[in-house]
Amino acid sequence: MALIITDECINCDVCEPECPNGAISQGDEIYVIDPNLCTECVGHFDEPQCVEVCPVDCIPKDPDHVETKEELMEKYNRIING
Ligand code: SF4
Ligand code: SF4
Repeated sequence: MALIITDECINCDVCEPECPNGAISQGDEIYVIDPNLCTECVGHFDEPQCVEVCPVDCIPKDPDHVETKEELMEKYNRIING
């Protein structure tokens, strides 16, 4: 499933450049993840890179965007094939 950034985000900006899908951007108040682009890093890395670097641990899974590993891989393929 896609991940989501909670309001505990401190706008430190370290996650944005780490996302292999360009899914993270600065929102109105905090950073946001585009669920259409977040594959949980499936296809690129074994672990979600944003979670690895976030200093305040504010990037849980988004229960509103539940997806299987297979669906995440299909999303990855859609993204890389444009
Ligand atoms: Fe980007 Fe991976 Fe974080 Fe999803 S889990 S937002 S693809 S870095
Ligand atoms: Fe916010 Fe965490 Fe990203 Fe920093 S790494 S901008 S605290 S979500």
